[in-house]
Amino acid sequence: MPKLKVSGLKAYYFTENGIIKGVDGINFEINEGESLGIVGESACGKSTLGAALMRSIQLPGKIVEGSIILGGDDITKMSSSEFDSKVRWKRISMVFQGAMNALDPVYNVESQLREILIEHHFQGKIDDIIAESLQQVGLDLSIAKRYPHELSGGMKQRVVIAMALLLNPDVLIADEPTTALDMVVQSQIISLLKKLQKEKGITIILITHDLALVSQITDRIAIMYAGQLVEFLTTKDIYKNPRHPYTQALIEAIPKLRTKDKKIHFVKGSPPSLLSPPQGCRFYDRCVHAMDVCKRNPPEFETETGYVCCWLYEGSGENRQP
Ligand code: SF4
Repeated sequence: MPKLKVSGLKAYYFTENGIIKGVDGINFEINEGESLGIVGESACGKSTLGAALMRSIQLPGKIVEGSIILGGDDITKMSSSEFDSKVRWKRISMVFQGAMNALDPVYNVESQLREILIEHHFQGKIDDIIAESLQQVGLDLSIAKRYPHELSGGMKQRVVIAMALLLNPDVLIADEPTTALDMVVQSQIISLLKKLQKEKGITIILITHDLALVSQITDRIAIMYAGQLVEFLTTKDIYKNPRHPYTQALIEAIPKLRTKDKKIHFVKGSPPSLLSPPQGCRFYDRCVHAMDVCKRNPPEFETETGYVCCWLYEGSGENRQP
């Protein structure tokens, strides 16, 4: 059984200007101890998907359809109090985007870790668990007495990862965990996540716009575009056999240091508004292969390691949708 199985998930924001379809019919699954990267440009719904998995979408947003099965339980069917007491932080946890800047400036690290444990009625030796959690993210115990302003960006990010892992969750979602960090610290944080996945057998979902970065750590990659997943494949396949024209364009846009081609490539155009996404393939206006049939919504065509939503692959595999 997969650790996490997401089916037909839709999460919309009901605004005065209309309905923003942040997540619009997403399917994927991930096994225990695996890591999945969710990649796409800004404003394509990645963070909404992460928040939906944590049931943390803020009003006027909400999950409107679909299921999220975590270890056999559909968390979309749980009451808020059941989810808060039994699941949030204990079975699934998240490092939110920019979380390191949300550390409370007036409390030291130890107090902030202690507060989480007390709030969740942690049964056990609090001092020991604080020491262990700092150690597992590579921080010295002396950090516990420091205040956020006394920490570097990398240290703060390690502290928020320690917080997310305090209650030993099975699944950790990290939303852009290396944004605003320099290259060296980015690489240290990625190595840390890799180590935690290996040592603790934790299932990791890494949300990022950086395809090159995500391919260093994850087993599988989901490419997200305009509120939908357009391709799901293994990380091995991402460079060897990317199928969707958007995936191919993202790879083309990665700067290449070891080739003679020094031209900077980018994905031409911009994603459609999620307020009124076009009918049919949402990548249509930017796709060099667009055909008449693309005005119809492409289903998920099965591939050897996942699926691709693109009419170019019609007939190349089994159609996953009824
Ligand atoms: Fe391009 Fe058509 Fe495939 Fe969309 S379905 S990515 S428009 S070829």
